[in-house]
This record gives sequence, C-alpha cells and structure tokens, in this order.
Amino acid sequence: MITKSSLQKTTFLEEHAGQYGYDGKIDRIRDEEYPQLKNTIYLDHAGTTIYAQSTFKAFAIDLASNLYGNPHSKSPSSNLTAQKLDSVRTLVLNHFDTTPGDYQVIFTQNATAAIKLVGECFPWTKNKSWLKYLRESHTSVIGLRAFAKENEVDFSTVNEDEIESMIRKKNNDLASNLCEDSQTVYNLFVYPAQCNFSGMRFPLSWTQGIKEKFNNDSSRVLVLLDAASYVMTSQLSLKDTETSPDFVSISFYKMFGYPTGIGALLVKSELAPILRKRYFGGGTVSAVLYDIDYQQFRPSLSESFEDGTTNFLSIIALSHAFSTFIALFTSFNQATLHTSSLISYLYTQMSSLKHYNGSPVCKIFSTRDFNNPVEQGPVLNFNLKKADGSWIGFSEVARLAGIQNIDLRVGGLCNPGNVTKWFNVSQKELMMAFQSGKVCGDDQDVINGKPVGSVRVSLGAMSTIDDVLALIDFVKEYFVETSPPVERFRTKHLSKNMHLNPIKSCKGFSTDQPWPISQQGLLYDREWMLIDAQSGRALRQTQYPRMALISPAIDLINNVLVISAPGLPSLTMRLNELSNFEVELRESRICGDKINSLEYTSLEITSFFSKFLNVSCYLACQSSFSRRYIKEKLSSSANAPLSLSNESPFLLVSQNSFDCLKSQIGSEKEQVIDLRSFRGNFVIEGAERAYEEDDWKLLRIGEQFFELLGPCTRCQMICINQDTGERTRDLYSSLVKCRSTNGKIKFGQHMVHVPKLSKAPYVISSGMEAEILELRKIE
Ligand SMILES: *Cc1c(COP(=O)(O)O)cnc(C)c1O
Repeated sequence: MITKSSLQKTTFLEEHAGQYGYDGKIDRIRDEEYPQLKNTIYLDHAGTTIYAQSTFKAFAIDLASNLYGNPHSKSPSSNLTAQKLDSVRTLVLNHFDTTPGDYQVIFTQNATAAIKLVGECFPWTKNKSWLKYLRESHTSVIGLRAFAKENEVDFSTVNEDEIESMIRKKNNDLASNLCEDSQTVYNLFVYPAQCNFSGMRFPLSWTQGIKEKFNNDSSRVLVLLDAASYVMTSQLSLKDTETSPDFVSISFYKMFGYPTGIGALLVKSELAPILRKRYFGGGTVSAVLYDIDYQQFRPSLSESFEDGTTNFLSIIALSHAFSTFIALFTSFNQATLHTSSLISYLYTQMSSLKHYNGSPVCKIFSTRDFNNPVEQGPVLNFNLKKADGSWIGFSEVARLAGIQNIDLRVGGLCNPGNVTKWFNVSQKELMMAFQSGKVCGDDQDVINGKPVGSVRVSLGAMSTIDDVLALIDFVKEYFVETSPPVERFRTKHLSKNMHLNPIKSCKGFSTDQPWPISQQGLLYDREWMLIDAQSGRALRQTQYPRMALISPAIDLINNVLVISAPGLPSLTMRLNELSNFEVELRESRICGDKINSLEYTSLEITSFFSKFLNVSCYLACQSSFSRRYIKEKLSSSANAPLSLSNESPFLLVSQNSFDCLKSQIGSEKEQVIDLRSFRGNFVIEGAERAYEEDDWKLLRIGEQFFELLGPCTRCQMICINQDTGERTRDLYSSLVKCRSTNGKIKFGQHMVHVPKLSKAPYVISSGMEAEILELRKIE
C-alpha cells in the first residue's frame, strides 16, 4: 500500500476543519460502518456508493420482528407492508422537500427505468412535439429518442451555450406549431442536474428559464431532470413547484449503496391527467374484464404506474438507509460540505502536478469552479499525459490502479456526448471505430492519437482525505516523470527467437512461433527432466555435459515432442497424452526440493536416454500433486507455482549485457562463450547500456506484463559448449572477474507473468516490442 504523507494530511485538516469530517467523526464512521473499505481505495462512488453496516443491522431487526405480506392482499401482514410503503413514499417526498399534493413517487427499478417511463407515458403529438436533451446526457436519456422516433416527433441535442442563449433570447422559435384542434402540444426537455461523466452541475434554474421562454397557450415544455448523479451527495429541493422540474429520475443505490434495484420517478401530481399509461398489470387497475377491452387505472399515479408487485422489502430497507445516513452524516448538506472540501483539494493537487520539464501531468475535464459545490459535484474526470505531451491511455491507468487496489472507473462512462465534447473525436471517427469492432466498455483507449475515454474518480459521503492522498501518491509514483527519459522509453524488443528447455538441462529449443505462456512459464518449458534411477535426483548438465546434445523439439501444431540425439533414432511422443505411456508416480529431488514425479516406464524411452548418457535414468515430468513454488527471497511472487526450472518461471537476458561480458573476457575466450548457455527464455535487444535490466521492475512485452524479481545466479553450466557438450576450463573464473558479486556471477533477470495486467490470450511472439514501465527503487 502506498504511504501517505502525514504532513499533507495535517495541512488539509487544518485548512478544511469546518467542512471536512463531520466534526471529527469520519475516521470512526469509516472504521465502524464501512469495514469493507479497509483494503481498497474506493473511488467509484458515482458507480455506486457503499452501504453502511447499520442499515443492515436495523433492517435485519425489522425483518425479524415484522411480518410483511404482499401489499396487494388485504391481510394484516399485507396492510403492514402497504402502510410501510406509504411511509417510505412520504419519507422520499420529505427528503426532496415536497408533499404528495405536489409530487408523486413512482418506484422503479432504477433511474434508467424512471427515464424510460417518462418516454413511454409522455403525451407526444405526432409531428408537433419535440424532444431535446443536453449533449452531456447519460445514455439512459439518449435512449429516449427511440420514443421520439416511434411517435414521429423530432429530437435534437443542445449544448450549454445554446441553452443559455435560448433562455436569454426573446423570440420563441422552439414553440411547436399550434394544433388544429387547439390541444396543447407537449415537448420534453431533459438534462442532468450533475453530469455523471465530469461532475459538472447544470443550473437548476434552467427548468424555469426554459418554461418561461417556451410555454404559451398552445404549447408547453415539460422538464425531466436526471438527478441520479446529483442527489448522491446533495440535497435537491422541489419545494417551489413554479420553478421545479416536472419529472425527476433517481437511483437509490447511488445515494446509499443499498438497497439496489430501487429507483424512483418523481412526477408533478398535476400531470396525472395527461400522462398516457398504456400497459396495465397486477396492481395498477381498479377495474378490468378479461375478454372485453375494458379496464380502469387506479386513481393515484404511483398505483397506476407501478406494474406488478413492487420490490417492497427493498423499499422498506430504504427507510433504514435514510435513517442510517442521517444518523451518521447528519444531513446531505453536511455530505456536500465534506465531499466538496475533498474534491477541491484533489483538483488543486492534480492540476498542479508537473513533469520534470514543466509540462502538466493531468488534463481535467470540467470547466467548473471546484471550490463551489453549486457548480461541481465530487467527481474528477481526467486523462494523464507523458512529459512529451502524448496521452497515457486510460486502460494503463486502470491496470496499474488495479494492482494498487485503487478502484476507479475508466472509459466513455455511458456518456458519448462528453467523449465528443472533450476529446475532439468526431462522430465520424467514432462511427468508424465502432464499425471496425470497438465496443463500449472495451480497453481501446486512444483512436488516431486522441483519447476516447478517460479516468473518473468520484467521492461519496464516507470518502476520506486518506483515499484522496492515496490517489495523488499513486499518480505521482507511476506517472509523474521526474527526470528525462534516458533509456526508459527507448524501444526494446525481443530477439527473433524465444528459447525453452523442454527437458531440464538438455539442449534448448528455439522458436519464432507465437508461444502460449502461463504463470509457470512458456508452455512446455522445463516440463520434463531426467532422473537418476539410483539416487532419484534430477540429472544436471554440469555432471553429464552430454545432456547438451539431447535435443528436444516441440511441434505445437502437430502436438508432438521429438527428441533427437547424435547416433540414435529419434523419439516421438505425443504431447498431453500421458496415458499413451505407462507412467508411475515416484519421489524425486530437484534443486533440493522433494517432489513427486511421473516416470515414463516405456523401455524405448528409458533406454534412449540411459544409452546416450551411459547412466541408468528415466524421463519424468512433474506430477500435479506436488507443485513447487517460487522461493520467498524472490519477493512478492513467492508461492506462485513453478515448473521444473530452478527458481522462477521466466528468465530474461539482454544481448547488450552479453556483448559486454564477451568483450571483457579476452579475445581467446570470446569464441567459446555462448548466450544459449545462459538459458534465457527471452533475449532482449536495444537496451541502452549493459546490465540496465537489473534496474527494471515492470516490463511489458506485447500485451503481456512481467514483474522482474532479481538477478539470476549462475553455475558452471554456462561454461559448457551447447554444441559439443565440452566444458571450457577457466571460463568460469574469467567470467567471475568481469561480473561478480561476492564471487557469484549474476546474469539475467528472473521474471513472473502478471496476468492481472495482461491481455488474454497469453501469448508471446518473438520480435515483440518491449517497454519498461517501472524501475526498481534503489534501496
Ligand atoms: C447513474 C446514472 C444514470 C443511470 O442510473 P441507473 O441506476 O444505472 O439506471 C442516469 N443518469 C445519470 C446522470 C447517472 O449518474
């Protein structure tokens, strides 16, 4: 976990004492009520905020002590439910500062369902009404245009400036044509109170402004305020019906984290006569005949609009969510103060981050004053840039945040209007991207050098300064470049072959084919070994140099392993089909570890190896019953499974380091030293200087990520000629002179694959580009 600067925290606490922390209670609230946030920096409250423990405790007691029947029955248990539902409706109306006379609450599944309900029931007039929505609308609002099309009315979008000038302009060009039969034409205008993408708030006064301009005798504009994001941390008042919106959509999980599956549409009561409810179902009718088209809706809006049985237990849970919220945070206004202090601090810090060359690290997407909660909600939407000014894709930020247990949201955030507004990507470019396979929510983050999504950080009532500082530290640590990129950004790539050693200590096998990898290494790397029949120990090339002449080759297409050795007919074995051979479980030893191995008992196989090496031995592979694991000294990846390799699943060697070593040992030995003896799986080319790989920590090869664990300590095996199996005397000591720490030769780096960061399928191809993402800290 990232360490936080306590000095920054102290300064913040001093400066925001009046606003932050609910009179010093926040840390206790977090400990007691939100234990589930302990190990995560949770910064996706606009996705959903997090529930408090007290809500459940109170709800559990409620459920245990009351019997709740279906509210449509007439039993005492049913009446109790109906009563509770009424009281929750009242609670919701009170929360929005209004009464049943002015507004009705229709419970829905979520905000989207509330918005959809407006589209379904809206009194559209064919060819005369219009639908307009703000460009910054959520896709749930954009979907309303399906109703516009179905009802043959025009739809269009507007941006902020257009609305402002529309409201200021005198003449009323948006009013619809008069209906011949002089019926009122209704038009629908929709906008979010707070943008879910940027946290920017839009004036609540627009509602009145729009109505004043466009309402007349023949035409009226009804306003749907999408308040799903706004009400999370702010109080919305619907007290003044002259100026308040006609419809308000919300989702309760965004306010409380729990219950989920409950939203509401608040509707002005006076609209009851004009809304066109069509479908009728359980609970919504007061009269119905089964075979004649006769039915009567119930009189109240909520009764006639809530089809079927409502999610009544969740609605009851909602009352506990409300009271818990008030008990913990006093009011939504307090939550506004608290979150506002945090977001303004976060904004100030992030917008002042600079690279070594003075270029900004963070581009923030909002034009609002972050100190003012009327203008900006507790959301920070941004993209990061490198010192050279190029964009860092949001997928990379998300991947790295993921390993630091930081939860945030990336992408287009269900808000295509904002993607176009901020990123300068045209509709045409987006259309082309979609047509060539881009889908919402994928990790294609940059198109034609322009981002098509961003990173959103959002806070909730229970967020703390520690959460915010952790994010700032994360960005500083991973993305702020403090010095010029000397070798860091120079392209490196793998050499044209990758190497594996299917049989431990035998000759390596090189391939230029794309090769699958797993946590245990390249597929079939060190899958097999030769076991001394007497001692049960794995044979090693240092004792039996002729092993270097046994040459296994894997053919992935035909799924065979072919083993050849000079003077012997080659052996062909099918891969993955142990059953073709008789195998026997045995105990053996490898690098001091006791393991169970599966022995191939076929005489043909056994005599092949025994004859060639002149020692009684057999071929074996590791049984899945006894896995070996990476040793603890190799850091964070201890306990990752290991094949038959000595210490780690992957070994990386650098061509530059090898060239350097070669030039140091003196010309007479230059001929005999061979990079193949170092048994690297990957040979990296293009490093700036020898041994720079010792400083690397996180490496990307193609779409695969690797953590470097540390240098590999070498034994005498590097002195065996891989073509002749002969040992070159003195080579080892010459090498020790050139490159040793405490008399040991360290060459190459151990690595583990990091599947969490990597893209499936996990495959590596030779020649792939490699990039260093993180350097080891100098201790
Ligand atoms: C979250 C959100 C929605 C959609 O809410 P659901 O609960 O997914 O239906 C719509 N609009 C805005 C502004 C939102 O923030």
